[in-house]
Amino acid sequence: MTTTQVVNPATEQVVTTLELLGAAETDAAIERAQRAAAGWREVAPGDRARLLRRFAEAVDANLEQLARLEVANAGHTIGNARWEAGNVRDVLHFAAGIPERLLGNQIPVAGGVDITFHEPLGVVGVIVPWNFPMPIAAWGFGPALAAGNAVVLKPAELTPLTAIRLGELALEAGVPEGVFQVLPGKGSVVGQRFVTHPAVRKVVFTGSTEVGKQIMAGCARQVKRVTLELGGKSANIVFADADLERAAATAPYGVFDNAGQDCCARSRILVQRSVFDRFLELLEPAVRGVRVGDPADEATEMGPLISASHRARVASFIEPSTKVAFTGTQPDGPGFWYPPTVVLPDAPSDRLLTEEVFGPVVAVVAFEDEADAVRIANDTEYGLSGSIWTNDVGRALRVSRGVEAGNLSVNSHSSVRYWTPFGGFKQSGLGRELGPDAALAFTETKNVFIAT
Ligand code: NAP
Ligand code: MG
Repeated sequence: MTTTQVVNPATEQVVTTLELLGAAETDAAIERAQRAAAGWREVAPGDRARLLRRFAEAVDANLEQLARLEVANAGHTIGNARWEAGNVRDVLHFAAGIPERLLGNQIPVAGGVDITFHEPLGVVGVIVPWNFPMPIAAWGFGPALAAGNAVVLKPAELTPLTAIRLGELALEAGVPEGVFQVLPGKGSVVGQRFVTHPAVRKVVFTGSTEVGKQIMAGCARQVKRVTLELGGKSANIVFADADLERAAATAPYGVFDNAGQDCCARSRILVQRSVFDRFLELLEPAVRGVRVGDPADEATEMGPLISASHRARVASFIEPSTKVAFTGTQPDGPGFWYPPTVVLPDAPSDRLLTEEVFGPVVAVVAFEDEADAVRIANDTEYGLSGSIWTNDVGRALRVSRGVEAGNLSVNSHSSVRYWTPFGGFKQSGLGRELGPDAALAFTETKNVFIAT
């Protein structure tokens, strides 16, 4: 069996060594899931709801432990990690409301009765990246389980620990054996098997656009259902009429949260030219003021990057010719640190404006007017999130409708809410997670006509 070392990115110390599943073990787990799914779909809605509520309560009772695990494994700040574990609990409580509300339609027809059912798919495979191991896992497994599916979940190789713990908590809460299995392993082995194994009827993938395209192509062979949550290059658009002080004070947190390893990171700041210089003056102290350091420290606002190789990738974006406006701080000593960095690209084709850095690097560019702002915001293959700062409500709405992205916030950098839909336009993804329709992504609609 292959093993992997789990490393604390803030200290570079080995946290634990873990066995990775091979192809045969993955197949065995998928077959267990298939058998378990047959029983799970027959569990009465109220009982399925109660088990999910118990699972949520088990997560809540272990919230601090889960948060500490994420601090050690992913270098997330303790404040963020507590929010993330709390988000799993909340997603499960929300999901617990689904089984009894999975309503079909009764459609008027001649000569009989027509009704629709939302049938579970069977086995759902969830593939999770390393940047938000807990929430992204729960957005898949919560509604999938609620809709009556069994779930096999592959955590990222770098960050498997909280997912493994969540799998244990599900069992402790009484979720039947085989209904929810966590399978640590390589993407090319375990993840790939979710794509190719015919018993897996849907793949929920969150990760890079590059791998997402391969997953989609692979799923096409079996016409397998797929939801993709991919990369982003989101714009934070600041108009001259906005509260500039607030826009500048909050901009760092819209991009440097989780050290910029956030698909929703507002990694392009678009500022109206008349206030461009003033905005940069206000941004500089805000960026220098971001508290970067030990993620276990309650006051810390930004931790390290996930790995040495990821840090090297982030650093490769800053070339000798790059105009760096200013940077924030980073601690000395071990850890995969990178300081908050603000750059001023010259040309729209600059990699810093077109590619996802997935680190604490933000590019600031000027725009002339509303139309120009929307044009620049949309000048990307991505379309995940974004922010709009203005005190003109008409403009806020016009620009919100104009920007091609799935999740926008006005005068804020809103994070994801489990009861509102989340997902991307263009190459940022396919399908939606969370929100009122969360369960429908894990069911097939069946129409039945009964002659009377
Ligand atoms: P990644 O390399 O695409 O990996 C994501 C997951 O896919 C990991 O679990 C990985 O396993 C697995 N995987 C890799 N190759 C695979 C294959 N051939 N078949 C099946 N599974 C495979 O992405 P990452 O570097 O971990 O994460 C960063 C990316 O995720 C960024 O681009 C970011 O924007 C995106 N993201 C998007 C969202 C969103 O909601 N839109 C949210 C968070 C992150 P291993 O760990 O073993 O490689
Ligand atoms: Mg990768």
